Amino acid sequence: MGQFLAGFARPCLRRARARALLTLLLLAGPLGATTVEGMRTHAGPEHTRLVLDLSAPARWSAFTLDNPARLVLDLADADLAFDPARLPLAQTTLAGVRSAEKAGGELRLVLDLDGPHDHTVFALDPVAGMGHRLVVDLRPQGAKPAAPSPVAEAQRAIVVAIDAGHGGEDPGALGPGGVREKDVVLAIAQRLKAKFDATPGFRGELIRTGDYYVPLRRRTARARDLRADFFISIHADAFDSPQPRGASVYALSQRGATSESARWLAAKENQSDLIGGVGAVSLADRDPVLAQVLIDIAMTGTLSQSLLAGGRVVDALGARTRLHSKRVEQAGFVVLKSPDIPSLLVETGFISNPEEARLLRSPRHQSRLAEAIFEGVRAHLEQAPPPGTLLAARQAQLADAPRYKIRRGDTLSTIAARHGIDTARLKSANNLASDRIRVGQVLVIPRS
Ligand SMILES: [Zn+2]
Repeated sequence: MGQFLAGFARPCLRRARARALLTLLLLAGPLGATTVEGMRTHAGPEHTRLVLDLSAPARWSAFTLDNPARLVLDLADADLAFDPARLPLAQTTLAGVRSAEKAGGELRLVLDLDGPHDHTVFALDPVAGMGHRLVVDLRPQGAKPAAPSPVAEAQRAIVVAIDAGHGGEDPGALGPGGVREKDVVLAIAQRLKAKFDATPGFRGELIRTGDYYVPLRRRTARARDLRADFFISIHADAFDSPQPRGASVYALSQRGATSESARWLAAKENQSDLIGGVGAVSLADRDPVLAQVLIDIAMTGTLSQSLLAGGRVVDALGARTRLHSKRVEQAGFVVLKSPDIPSLLVETGFISNPEEARLLRSPRHQSRLAEAIFEGVRAHLEQAPPPGTLLAARQAQLADAPRYKIRRGDTLSTIAARHGIDTARLKSANNLASDRIRVGQVLVIPRS
């Protein structure tokens, strides 16, 4: 617009005309009517975020009112296609959301708050399969940085996002006998989800649940929406000769990490999205050099977590299937590029190899592969549980718990009984898979 207005003669006139033009733009409403198609909340330790999914960019204004505390958000020329009563409010600092349609096509949203808040409202352009969004960040005023109760936060399960590669129009690799990568990897992903769901402290979430295609950037965006702690993409390899075989595990390459960090910095909307990642800081209003440093730190930390977990998955796979590579490979796969979610891509075998194609089809082998991936990722996450999770709380609790050294004649049940706890709890606190114990072994005794 600066370029265009420079054509006008005198500076004073130029400004008046600019203002007139702006007013005209606002009045004419070139953006058209906006529909609020959905609402989502994200509860962070220090803020609550409300995201409105919009059909088109919105014109908005926001102000707060006291007694009781609330935030009023007015959207010009807008309507609502979502029932705010359906919005999950648990762990947020929102007490309720109400809506009213005002004269002139204005939509008013009233956010009832549990106390005085500072607020930031900003718009995000479509990115990674998400449309126009309006984001309301609410921070409770006055200290107490950990607003949600520590108990509620500590109960959080570790969320593992499981991405079955390809789908729908994209069958992935094709093998002998009509076996398709997209079907095999979905079956393995479903088994893997079931294993996480059956494990206390974990939850598996499928990025795609059926035979349809999800764009690559949308897969990572969905993991972010799910507040995933870990991301696993499942594939099967193919080669133009039938000989290559075996599984491989990939983490992001350093080069991929560097270029992605530059990309994130270049895309302003992503920086706002990073709240909740990167140690829950917003990069939106930071100095670019500092923002770059923060992203690099996050990327480096994430990549080292991915490599550690990857090593465990390689070991677990190696115990159950042939390996194509005995170390964690690194490549610039798009789905591995979340700056703040450790991510792995597992090539479960070569679908172009007739024997592996047959194995990949067999439910028993699928189960074995899921078991290996599960075991590797779980072992890593149990060793380094993400902050705020049930497992992290349990680990902190066990750090100062009493110890017991096993003597001749002890059994798990007698030790448990003597300490007034049940055997299952004793086993889980010590990560024991069986009842077998040995003299001299030291057990942690969890509090009853
Ligand atoms: Zn693939």
